[in-house]
Amino acid sequence: MPEPRPSLHPDTTTLHAGLSPDAATGALAPAIQMATTFARDAENALPGPYLYGRYANPTRDALEQALATLEQGAVARAFASGLAAATAVLQSLAPGARVLFPEGVYSGVRSLATTVFGPWGLVPVFVDERNPTAYAEAIAAAPTALVWIESPSNPRWVVTDIAAVAKAAHASGARVVVDNTVATPLGQSPLALGADVVLHATTKAIGGHSDVTGGALVFARDDAWAAQITELQKLGGAVPSPFDCWLILRGLRTLPVRFARQCESAQRVAEFLASHPAISAVHYPGLPSHAGHAVAEKQMRGFSGMLSFEHARGREGALRSLGALRLFARATSLGGVESLAEHRKTVESPDTPTPESLVRLSIGLEHPDDLIGDLRAALSV
Ligand SMILES: *Cc1c(COP(=O)(O)O)cnc(C)c1O
Repeated sequence: MPEPRPSLHPDTTTLHAGLSPDAATGALAPAIQMATTFARDAENALPGPYLYGRYANPTRDALEQALATLEQGAVARAFASGLAAATAVLQSLAPGARVLFPEGVYSGVRSLATTVFGPWGLVPVFVDERNPTAYAEAIAAAPTALVWIESPSNPRWVVTDIAAVAKAAHASGARVVVDNTVATPLGQSPLALGADVVLHATTKAIGGHSDVTGGALVFARDDAWAAQITELQKLGGAVPSPFDCWLILRGLRTLPVRFARQCESAQRVAEFLASHPAISAVHYPGLPSHAGHAVAEKQMRGFSGMLSFEHARGREGALRSLGALRLFARATSLGGVESLAEHRKTVESPDTPTPESLVRLSIGLEHPDDLIGDLRAALSV
């Protein structure tokens, strides 16, 4: 009997998930299959599982398999963007369905819920996720179809106890989606904590190079709900191109080293900012002073490369420091190889609770001493 192999580390799984040498050529890197249609034989039968590009595609399959493995799910579906994935989840609900969102939900999801799905018939309700009992109270208050968790949430990185909220939601028959974009599959496994589906904007850390837009859903079970959302993927048609799938898969392979470096640098940047006199608050789950630190330690394997600070001189101080940065690019988005800084209130819808004094940082792969040097100089102006 051969020795049983020990289970693999996520770093190794990320490299190998969904990857096998091409059967015809032995090519180790996956091919980009651009075909939109697949030929039938003389008996009118298809030789393989593919019929038409929008339904399924080998390159998309490889990405979906890799994401399902990484998130420890049963099945994954890839979409043309993170918001296309969010749209499919919300479209699967019946008009009249009540959906709980955290106040700190990604502002695009907030706008989607209120401006598109509100008029369409969903009832979005926003809870203050900084209060640990807010979800349970809102779940108890009225029948709820879906509980949306984003942890850590944008842009104050509030941490929600996923296992506790999932338990309360399931006890009342609600489903649970977790937006795991910021934590990444390396930093947090929401399905293992009880979520029903995980959402990713693969545009961010998974793609990792700020050059491809994509989204994905990973389901805990290959059940009727997963089948319904697969229909929405196929018939709604918000599918990623094969080339985009290939780019996202290529980015995914280096996620473990990028994520480890980003977490390490973000921790150092957060500690530097926490001791700076021009700063009135630092939001980073890796700081023991952060309200969600204990829960983050329990459910995360890395506190992510995302943090925010509030300037003691409010909006004016925040914008002045931003303008003086040289290494950080002043741009939206997150999780890429280059560091970004953003006055978050400028790009969010006016109804978000984000303070005017807040600057959001996405930590890239530059040397952390250089990033700290850039911030030190910019904060002195
Ligand atoms: C960017 C982002 C999204 C939306 O993704 P897109 O690809 O821009 O549609 C959703 N959730 C979070 C947390 C994000 O950062």
